[in-house]
Amino acid sequence: MPPLRVVILGAGFGGLELATMLSEAVGDEAAVTLIDKSDAFVFGYSKLDVMFGRTTLDQVRLSYRDLVKPGVRFLQETVTSIDPEARRVTTDVGVHEADVLVLALGADYDLDATPGLVEAGNEFYSVSGAERLAQLLPEFSHGRAIVGVCGAPFKCPPAPSEAALLLHDYLSVRGVRAACEISIVIPFATPVPPSPDTSAALVAAFAERGIEFIPGRRIASLDAGSSVARLDDGTELAFDLFLGVPKHRAPEVVIQSGLTEDGYVPVSSQTLETRFPGVYAVGDVATVGVPKAGVFAEGAARVVAASLIATLRGAEQPGGYGGRGSCYIEFGAGRIGRVDVDFLSGPKPTGTFREPSVALVDEKRDFGSSRRARWFGR
Ligand SMILES: Cc1cc2nc3c(=O)[nH]c(=O)nc-3n(C[C@H](O)[C@H](O)[C@H](O)COP(=O)(O)OP(=O)(O)OC[C@H]3O[C@@H](n4cnc5c(N)ncnc54)[C@H](O)[C@@H]3O)c2cc1C
Repeated sequence: MPPLRVVILGAGFGGLELATMLSEAVGDEAAVTLIDKSDAFVFGYSKLDVMFGRTTLDQVRLSYRDLVKPGVRFLQETVTSIDPEARRVTTDVGVHEADVLVLALGADYDLDATPGLVEAGNEFYSVSGAERLAQLLPEFSHGRAIVGVCGAPFKCPPAPSEAALLLHDYLSVRGVRAACEISIVIPFATPVPPSPDTSAALVAAFAERGIEFIPGRRIASLDAGSSVARLDDGTELAFDLFLGVPKHRAPEVVIQSGLTEDGYVPVSSQTLETRFPGVYAVGDVATVGVPKAGVFAEGAARVVAASLIATLRGAEQPGGYGGRGSCYIEFGAGRIGRVDVDFLSGPKPTGTFREPSVALVDEKRDFGSSRRARWFGR
């Protein structure tokens, strides 16, 4: 039998985990093609480290050159069109036919959706945005900084809270905190809605540090001339530095494929399959009732991998997607907390909070290094 042709679009959290599991379990029995337009992977949370000068981009870039796995071929190509019915993908280099097609293309940023963001503000959600802020932050010594979210859903819901707390530490170390104000604007009523304990701990951490917390609001626009941010209820906030989370959207090529509904790709919450047979979507590009975060993309990829492995082995199909994951949250002062969330097994999402500690700093480091080793052999 010819090997099953699995084409995975996107080599982020979801694509890397799926390719790795397939390679480990079935090797050359599947011909896995993993396509990404970039030459390297960067963990989302590394952007915070780059922005605050705790590391450099070179240190956190994981080159796809190091991805050497039996049965997996990595291609650095840009996907330009997807035909889900024919399971055919066109890139800037050629055409790829698939027996199984998996979309793991993540979410893109729509900077133009927020007037003034490009001219007056900065975003810290892209690698280039984080690098730019690493240049700008040393110059910020007085005035008001706003960490502002421009729309939901957005990746890693705790990340804006982490940015505000780390900014407090950064300014304190530089001896300029007293001359600066920090405000955080998020569209949810609490920082981490499924976990009241996590939210309470974050709100308390803001209060202890004199960080102004503005919940239930999003940034509607920025005025470059007056350096004023306008919220969705019309409130105006003057700023000297704006650190934004841009509005997210599915990549244009996914929208053009006709696979999206309400912005993202609807999939079965059990199997991650789209309405097209043999076409799956995992991670940030999909709508499955979980937040946009790497741990959930990885968990979804594992479910697709387990199902494909069972099919190849002629074995019984495994259980469906559980929607569970743990997120580490930087509280500053060298401590990290953790929230274990469960989105799909009960009537409503739940979250259990682990207090910030030094032990969890090590645990988060292990989380990153285990993936680095597993995916890149480093
Ligand atoms: C500041 C910040 C902090 C974060 N912290 C955490 C954290 O602590 N824990 C956590 O779990 N998550 C965290 N996240 C979220 C996490 O990074 C994402 O949710 C995760 O990467 C999603 O995985 P994915 O596989 O769906 O997509 P991605 O990892 O985004 O991968 C998508 C891939 O598709 C590629 N691609 C897109 N379009 C094309 C195209 N047309 N052609 C070819 N390739 C294309 C991209 O280059 C990319 O490599 C954080 C994110 C940010 C921004």
